[in-house]
Amino acid sequence: MAALVGQYYVLLRSVLRTKPLLRRCLVRCRHCRIFFLTHPCNGGRKDLGCPFGCRRAHRKQRSTVRSVAYYRDPIGKKKKQALNGKRAKPRSEGNRPTACPAGLESGSAGWNRLMLEYVRLLVSLIEARSVSRTEIVQMLQRVLRQHSLGRRRKIDHAVIWLQEHPP
Ligand SMILES: [Zn+2]
Repeated sequence: MAALVGQYYVLLRSVLRTKPLLRRCLVRCRHCRIFFLTHPCNGGRKDLGCPFGCRRAHRKQRSTVRSVAYYRDPIGKKKKQALNGKRAKPRSEGNRPTACPAGLESGSAGWNRLMLEYVRLLVSLIEARSVSRTEIVQMLQRVLRQHSLGRRRKIDHAVIWLQEHPP
């Protein structure tokens, strides 16, 4: 984990060196203190959570607190009963969009939506253009493919080396 953070910081530093303007987007997570880049309009804020887990964790916590407070009062209770009644009915047609390409939804192919958004923000900031999420997914798939190719090559080399130099 520490090695991963180290790698991330090396990358972040080199990005900031080549794009000094992005310094104003640099903020620190208020929970785990990690540095990350945010949208320029959030630059300088000290109350942000990082996209590596803190934001999601604390958002969940906040919404739990909110709904507990909400359902504790009598009006909220009635609403909840109505909601539960609605939920019990079988869903006729699927509300989920079917046009969503595979991998875009978190869970389906393991892409974390928040991370995807963060990568999209980073790429748009670095390349100074707006980038679609589809483009990011395609880019990530390409990078991951190359990565696994590289790893396979390394293993091949190791096997060849072992054949030439048996233990
Ligand atoms: Zn954090």
